[in-house]
Amino acid sequence: MANKWDERKKAQEDEYFVKKEKDLIEKLKAKQELETKQSVKATCHMRCPKCGEPLKERSFQKILIDQCTGCGGIWLDAGELEAVAGREEGGWLGKLWQRGEK
Ligand SMILES: [Zn+2]
Repeated sequence: MANKWDERKKAQEDEYFVKKEKDLIEKLKAKQELETKQSVKATCHMRCPKCGEPLKERSFQKILIDQCTGCGGIWLDAGELEAVAGREEGGWLGKLWQRGEK
């Protein structure tokens, strides 16, 4: 027959572990929420400023550009326009770029 004291001790232990498990779950939840927020933030960075649709990376003349999957708008990072315009020397974009500089 089980000792009363042992039973009580066992119950306390169970309570302790349940509480510990709850804490762990809470921590995990908080961590997951943080990760979700961070990934949302990362996705937001890659969204079209015009229509909010996600941007898809594609290469244009070996330069990676971000094109909107919604409106088809093209977004260039710093230096990318120069790179595209530079390669397009004599082309419409190069002319446009040079005209803009003068
Ligand atoms: Zn768009």
